[in-house]
This record gives sequence, structure tokens and C-alpha cells, in this order.
Amino acid sequence: MHNSVDNLIAIQKEIQLKTSENKSSKNLPEIIAVSKTFMMENIIPLINHGHLHFGENKVQEAIEKWENIKSDFSHLNLHMIGKLQTNKVKHAVSLFDYIHSLDNFKLAEKIFNEQEKQNKKIKIFIQVNLGEEDQKSGILLKNLNNFYTFCAKELSLNIIGLMCIPPANHEPTDYFKILKSAADKLSLKDLSMGMSSDFETALLNGSTYLRLGSVIMGKRNVN
Ligand SMILES: *Cc1c(COP(=O)(O)O)cnc(C)c1O
Repeated sequence: MHNSVDNLIAIQKEIQLKTSENKSSKNLPEIIAVSKTFMMENIIPLINHGHLHFGENKVQEAIEKWENIKSDFSHLNLHMIGKLQTNKVKHAVSLFDYIHSLDNFKLAEKIFNEQEKQNKKIKIFIQVNLGEEDQKSGILLKNLNNFYTFCAKELSLNIIGLMCIPPANHEPTDYFKILKSAADKLSLKDLSMGMSSDFETALLNGSTYLRLGSVIMGKRNVN
């Protein structure tokens, strides 16, 4: 069997075990296999195994890799997890099923307009910059309420939850707890948090979508 499939199965077992030990979490999170930088030949074994959720961080790369295969496997779910430029929204709305990186008003309006044109509504996470880091995307926690109201109430975007990438080299627990409580306040049930290095912690803190790259796909050469 292909390595990535073995890796996925091992992680699923671990998650099942951890979830059954933890009384507060009832449902298993979705695992998004982050396939950025990997070629389709490395991804196909996971698709053949029946895996349904995949993540990419660049629109152009995602089109090249997924446009054809998605029309053959309509049940696949493709997640845009990287920074989304407004000039790529048209293609992003057309290809992706989820966007994890909504973080500004202009982008929200652009997504709204494209969704109207394409008669499509995708599932969206608002990305929150919890560490208030200049180099990271995401809206600041203090602006979340306003931004959420604009997106969900004025534009009727389908905001399903919040996403964060905690600062590197920090203990992520507090960040995950803050995101969970922010989502609870807005009655949002989904949380996109947890990557290869911190998914166990994210799981314990209520993550519903884990974005896992290297633990499934192996080491990336670039990006
Ligand atoms: C690349 C990437 C991931 C996956 O990273 P790993 O550490 O390989 O699991 C998750 N989320 C985002 C936003 C990414 O860009």
C-alpha cells in the first residue's frame, strides 16, 4: 500500500482513540489531506482509498491539479487553505468547496459577487490572526464580531466556522481555546485548527477540521 494511505490510516486510528478518551468531543473531525506541492500521482492513492477532503494553498496550482479529476469525482471536497487574492476569487469559487482564509471586507464582497454569478455557495471559515502577527493573514479578534456580522448577515455568506494558525514555536493550547470560545460566542460549530505539529492539541480543544500535510504526504521539498 502507498505510504500516504498508511499514514492516513494510522492518524485516523490515533484520532479515534483520542476522541473516545475525551468525553467532551463526540464527533470525529474531518481530516483535510494538504496536498500542496505534491503531484497528482502522489495524491491519487488517497483518492482511490476513498479519502474525500484535500487542501491546497494556491489557486493556480489547484486548478492544474484538480480541475479534471474533480469533474470525475464529484464527491471530492477541495479546501482553499492559503491566502486568497481578490483577482483569484472567480476561479476559487468555481473550483473549491471550502475557503478557510476569509479575512477582509473586499474579499468577502468579491466572494459574494462571484457566488451570485456562479449560483454556487461554498462553505467558509473566517481566518483569525490570534497572535496579531504582521506576517500572518487573518482578522484581529477585536474586529471579529463586526466582520462576522457583515459576512453572515449583510452578505449571507455561508460562514461555518473560524480558522487559525497559532504563532510558530508557541504552545498552541491557549490559542485553540480562544478560537473555540470565539466560535461558541458566534454559535459557529466548526473550527479549522491543527496541523501536523499540533493536531493532537487541536483535537483536544474541539477542532472539527484538521489540516494535515507532512504527517500524511511526507516531507515537502518546496513551499
Ligand atoms: C501547509 C499548510 C498546512 C499543512 O501543514 P503541515 O505542517 O504539513 O501539516 C496546514 N494549514 C495551512 C494553512 C497550510 O498552509
